Amino acid sequence: MGQAPDPEAPLVNGLSVDVEEWFQVGAFERVIDRADWAGMASRVEGNVDFLLDLFAEARVRATFFTLGWVAERHPALMRRIAGGGHEIASHGYDHARVFTLSRRIFAQDIAKARCLIEDASGARVSGYRAPSFSIDARTPWAFEELAAQGYAYSSSVAPVAHDHYGWPEAPRFAFRPVAGSPLVELPVTTAMLGQRRVAAGGGGFFRVLPYSFSRWAIGQVNARERRPAVFYFHPWEVDPDQPRMDHAPLRSRLRHYTGIESMAGKLRKLLGDFEWGRVDALAAREAHRAQAFAPRSLPHSEAA
Ligand SMILES: [Zn+2]
Repeated sequence: MGQAPDPEAPLVNGLSVDVEEWFQVGAFERVIDRADWAGMASRVEGNVDFLLDLFAEARVRATFFTLGWVAERHPALMRRIAGGGHEIASHGYDHARVFTLSRRIFAQDIAKARCLIEDASGARVSGYRAPSFSIDARTPWAFEELAAQGYAYSSSVAPVAHDHYGWPEAPRFAFRPVAGSPLVELPVTTAMLGQRRVAAGGGGFFRVLPYSFSRWAIGQVNARERRPAVFYFHPWEVDPDQPRMDHAPLRSRLRHYTGIESMAGKLRKLLGDFEWGRVDALAAREAHRAQAFAPRSLPHSEAA
């Protein structure tokens, strides 16, 4: 057993950015065809450079879960991220959600993405985040495949009920999803509001709700539960000048655009109010207390 952690020391939380273009998000999936991506205006370099400056100013290192599709088109950006002392990890190749793939296609997707990201960045990839937190009870084979390909950790589960993703039965903190493997899953942060789990790890919730909610929620997790938070957001969330998808459904537009103007200011507060670091370092620190939790193998899961 290792030494007991100092109960007074501030916990270091995991900070992550899911590196994708403004047009590669779930909200626009039905409006923008993958075949049209190559012709759309790229914004990712400017947005990530803005974040690299913001993190340097706050003296914070983070993890950039990057699409293989983005890495192969922006190798210089990958080297700038790695050069800043940040971790480069994988977000899959083209944002296909895991539960829409077969095990064989998933295996190919993560192998291809890793190869492209490592080639572009010159850094080794040991972490994976599923697009739209799409690993759940339907895809028990996904963790087995990540373990087989030698990933150290995954941060692919939202342990909460949500309208288009979520796995409410999963543990809220670090767990080992594959018996006999050191693979650690670090679910995105939830807070307890009474008996209810609520999403508190970033994304649209951070943008739309007042900053005081996030500060309260992460404070609860750190101070009361003595666990680190895992927080995420996207480069397009700090880009008020991105092209507007006026023909997308209203609900999708609200989800995508609300709060973008104030996002950078909120992030500065968040970086100042808590301690942040790379997710690979967090996975290593949490490994000793990750509980075993293997998703139940559903007989029809291969066909999902
Ligand atoms: Zn994503």
